[in-house]
Amino acid sequence: MAIHEFDLVITGAGPAGMTAALYGARALLSTVVLERGEPGGELLNTEYLENFISYPKVLGRDLAAKFAEHARQAGAEIREFINVEYVAKREDGFFETVCDNGDIYVSPSVIVTAGGTPVKLGIPGELEYAGRGVSYCAVCDANFFKQQHIAVVGGGDAAVEESGYLSNYGSKVTLIHRRNEFRASRILQQRLFENPKINVILDTVAEEVLGENGLMTGLRLRNVETGETSVLDATGLFVFVGFKPNTGIIRGHLEHDKMGYVITDSMTMMVPSVPGMFVAGDMRAQLTRQVTTAAGDGTTAAIAAEKYVKGFMEAKREQRSAQTSEFRAIAESHADTTGLAR
Ligand SMILES: Cc1cc2nc3c(=O)[nH]c(=O)nc-3n(C[C@H](O)[C@H](O)[C@H](O)COP(=O)(O)OP(=O)(O)OC[C@H]3O[C@@H](n4cnc5c(N)ncnc54)[C@H](O)[C@@H]3O)c2cc1C
Repeated sequence: MAIHEFDLVITGAGPAGMTAALYGARALLSTVVLERGEPGGELLNTEYLENFISYPKVLGRDLAAKFAEHARQAGAEIREFINVEYVAKREDGFFETVCDNGDIYVSPSVIVTAGGTPVKLGIPGELEYAGRGVSYCAVCDANFFKQQHIAVVGGGDAAVEESGYLSNYGSKVTLIHRRNEFRASRILQQRLFENPKINVILDTVAEEVLGENGLMTGLRLRNVETGETSVLDATGLFVFVGFKPNTGIIRGHLEHDKMGYVITDSMTMMVPSVPGMFVAGDMRAQLTRQVTTAAGDGTTAAIAAEKYVKGFMEAKREQRSAQTSEFRAIAESHADTTGLAR
């Protein structure tokens, strides 16, 4: 076990964490990013991005490497394959970021950018064809399915709303839901049923993603009432059965929305109930989750953290100098009463 001291400790080297690291290091804070895998976050699960400004088409992996290189060039440390167990604030105001190898990182401020995970269907072929037909993000990937038959799985607001969005791209959208009615709001359902490009299949689950030569070619379905199976000739599958923000590593009271996303102060990204702790990127409650918004959040959080650290260290210095003066006064009065020479 080792204790490491930094001005700023960031959990997660996705786009939010690496941007925060760049800004933290450039603000001359000693900055470390702890990453349980390789740097990149969801970029490593994205084949091509077509909406990162200045790159009309870029491989997620290449963009991740550039983010990491830039943050390191600025002076930030990125420590890979370190899993953070929890982040907690101590009584003296410092934070402890505790890793499962026993190491503890102590810092006056932390930024948590641990992202989240789209809930998977867990069916054969799903992971094999992820990025090759299977996606969890319509804004990101719709463009790759122009004039194709797109399947969507889910029954909540995200599935219903994104089906409408995907119908602007695909030749046809088939929405598959395991129950016989949707959880989505009425207005979204009304739009769904009015959309001539969307076909709805109820009481049905997706059982297997089929493919050939590394690309998805269809989806095997099973009707849960009759047990009957069929194959849908879709070449794209968008899964919207939930997204789980990785908030479990934060110790302390957090406000969150009904989906579990952390509510932060909108000016600074600070967690209102834990001064000095900032949350940025996909973990945060906000309208959308993209690489650009994650990078924007990371920027704001690091600039706010810099101000926080300055204020915190100044307060500590004043506290120490007040304690020293008090100690001196006690020592002097003791010397006076005992007649000792100063
Ligand atoms: C399939 C897919 C395709 C996408 N395509 C696009 C696109 O084309 N364009 C676009 O703009 N956006 C796209 N997105 C969204 C974009 O990738 C995310 O919005 C962005 O990556 C969020 O960045 P983040 O840093 O908040 O989180 P993440 O990218 O999720 O990074 C979080 C990091 O934290 C690490 N971590 C988590 N827990 C711990 C722990 N306990 N200890 C240490 N490390 C930890 C993770 O390993 C990860 O590296 C896509 C998302 C998906 C899922």
